[in-house]
Amino acid sequence: MRVHNFGAGPCALPTEVLEEVRDELLDFAGTGMSVVELSHRSPHYEQVHRQALELARTVSAAPEDVDILFIQGGASLQFGMIPLNLLGPGERAGFVVTGSWAKAAYSDARRVGDAYAGWDGSEEGYRRMPTAGEMRVEPGTRYVHVTTNETINGTRMTQLPATTVPLVADMSSEFLARPIDWPRYDLVYGGVQKNLAPAGMALVFVRHAVVEAAAGRPLPNYLRYDWHAAADSLANTPPMFSIAVMAKMLARMAARGGIEALERESAAKAARVYDEIDISDGFYRSPVAIGSRSHMNVVFRLPDEALESTFVEEAERRALVGLKGHRSVGGIRASLYAGVSAESVDALVAFMSDFRRSH
Ligand SMILES: *Cc1c(COP(=O)(O)O)cnc(C)c1O
Repeated sequence: MRVHNFGAGPCALPTEVLEEVRDELLDFAGTGMSVVELSHRSPHYEQVHRQALELARTVSAAPEDVDILFIQGGASLQFGMIPLNLLGPGERAGFVVTGSWAKAAYSDARRVGDAYAGWDGSEEGYRRMPTAGEMRVEPGTRYVHVTTNETINGTRMTQLPATTVPLVADMSSEFLARPIDWPRYDLVYGGVQKNLAPAGMALVFVRHAVVEAAAGRPLPNYLRYDWHAAADSLANTPPMFSIAVMAKMLARMAARGGIEALERESAAKAARVYDEIDISDGFYRSPVAIGSRSHMNVVFRLPDEALESTFVEEAERRALVGLKGHRSVGGIRASLYAGVSAESVDALVAFMSDFRRSH
């Protein structure tokens, strides 16, 4: 039996996508082997690879001067790779520290270059995203890094910093679930395992001019964007399974109407859960400021921790899993990524309503 999976990552994948993967696992396109056993230099794999690249461009609407890269190491490797490639002598990176993930990106940037926090929400408990004017940009700033959706804290950025300095965004937990304002960005990245594919890589969109400008850096090959870009992410063995499944997810996203439709879909799914919270007379409480509520990670509390444990246990008995909040913040978190169906959301809301009445 398939459960309703609200895990924060790796994500639930749609049953139809998994069924296709299963059917192809012993014999991919008449090759007599699975896609993960093919040579990554074979025409069959190359076709999958090209298709994934093209679909990533179509769904994201990335302009032609943006290179699309598949890089192992997840979003976490990008925390270091971005400053290594982008920061030149005397240049600094500004960080909008909106939660646990932004803090991790900031901390890694400081290990390899000069970085400062232009806004820090830690004293407010990361309960909201800043307004455009609150994000300070200092002279000599090469880029400003934002985390558009904070997975652990359940917040969603609605305003970008008021600056002409290029932005870099970690969009891991809402990747391709909202339109991207391309002219503002030099680089957009995310681990694929939240909204797009099985774990195994980051999907990186980076301006070609930025890749070129970094080409002379004395970095090991794997850490150089130009090394990946020159070979269309086939410089070494790519994470073929992640890429093949991502291509299926992207094709499904394109068929559902593209990124605007996906944003509407996730807003509607989240609204069902927030509505249940808001009509509960304080039984369920969202710690997040109303204007900063995430569409992807709905975080909420119950009257006490004992009841939160009971909630998680009873939910599991109804096949609703992955609802325990992150260990650093506690509470409940329902992640509503692209692979989570409207039926799963209905099941969660029905359970929340029953639970409130019986407790
Ligand atoms: C999960 C997550 C990460 C870390 O991703 P990995 O691919 O596991 O390194 C980084 N940023 C955000 C916003 C995330 O949700």
